[in-house]
Amino acid sequence: MGSQVIRKTKSVCPVCLGVVDASVVARDGKAWMEKSCPRHGDFRILLSNRSECYKRLNDFYFSVMEGKKKVLEYEIWPTRSCNMSCPICSLGDIKQHKADLVPSCADIEDVVRKCKASFFTLSGGEPTCRPDLGEIIAILRKHHKTAIINTNGLKFTNIDYLKDLVRAGLERVNLQFDGFKREVYPVLRGVDLLDVKLKVLANLKALRVPVILNVTIAKNLNEGEISGIIDYAAKNEFINGVTFFTICNIGGAGKWPLDNYIVPDEVVGILEQQTRSRISSESFYLFQKLHMSLKSFLSQKTCFYNRVYVLVRNDDGGYRPIDELIGLKRLEPVLDQYHALFLKDQFIAKLYFALFFPIALLANTSPSILKEFFLMAVSYFFKTRHYLGSGRFLSVSISTSCDPFKMDYGIVKNCQNEIICVDERSGKFGHQGSICLYGMGLEKPRHE
Ligand SMILES: [Zn+2]
Repeated sequence: MGSQVIRKTKSVCPVCLGVVDASVVARDGKAWMEKSCPRHGDFRILLSNRSECYKRLNDFYFSVMEGKKKVLEYEIWPTRSCNMSCPICSLGDIKQHKADLVPSCADIEDVVRKCKASFFTLSGGEPTCRPDLGEIIAILRKHHKTAIINTNGLKFTNIDYLKDLVRAGLERVNLQFDGFKREVYPVLRGVDLLDVKLKVLANLKALRVPVILNVTIAKNLNEGEISGIIDYAAKNEFINGVTFFTICNIGGAGKWPLDNYIVPDEVVGILEQQTRSRISSESFYLFQKLHMSLKSFLSQKTCFYNRVYVLVRNDDGGYRPIDELIGLKRLEPVLDQYHALFLKDQFIAKLYFALFFPIALLANTSPSILKEFFLMAVSYFFKTRHYLGSGRFLSVSISTSCDPFKMDYGIVKNCQNEIICVDERSGKFGHQGSICLYGMGLEKPRHE
């Protein structure tokens, strides 16, 4: 079978990290990144198991995401220490972490005060390793920012500790949760954590703290649990969403056999299979076009490796795909027209979208959900805290991040994950740009 070049880009050699030319190629029904390093030879990395779908989204995304885009949320790393040593940690061996790269509360306040963004996720290593975490959260609240935390949750088995953070202003917990199969935890985390995670979820539920479940997915390990985790989340209104991260070839997981890696489009296919096409790949694909169009219209960055979707909770504990309530297929002509116009004139395209998208949405959205959906979408895109408290919707994201294998400078340009941390080289606390580039120790390529 022949091959077709989907896009030319720049990447890095996974061995020496030198910048190299790369091609995204469709072959055998799959999409691959192909590149070669003069010193380390040829590399071919699977990007998608469905090249046709990948190409359609690729062409849409790289047109509408042209131009300058902004970021509305940041990650702050208050520490690089951790109370776990996960075999797959993206930071690698925990003992090598520079524990002294810790900003003071005054450093954090100084940066937060000057930053226009409204959402800040505390991350890094494990934020709860900071004894003054409550104080950091209170600083965010003082400056009217929304405080979110990425955590393994170990310390939240103590409900009083969790209560203190909520009182200080913590507004959402992104909890690392790898599913209900006990045997998964020792592989991904080094120890069995299932009972700990269940206890933490019970505490979060008792205090009604909005939660996102961050699930790491590895092939032949826990991909069988995807729809089960969604069913559980749908039944529990305190859960805002589920994010499935496919395992990346970086840090500890970089030593894994290649068979364990899985790409987001494979996960979409698995989800379709497990839900017996209730959540179909086609619907998922259409929703990406909608999301990309809105991000483009609002000039906001969004990563091409992210796949997002929304489910609507029923009263009986089940859910309906958003498609059943807003008619994505009938919105598609407006999105396609926006795309076509955008290639010619961005201003005209945005004018068209501002006029015709609301009309199409009004005409095709079920009245029972219209107002709520509209308020949720406005809150999500403009980053106000309203959507965190909405119990009606459940977001489902399927995501991965750049690693030295699938690193793509065309994509990283619109990376929405930017970090604020203490720089290893300068020792200064501040904005470091894309987390993907920074995590690999890379800088922007010179041609940009
Ligand atoms: Zn090389």
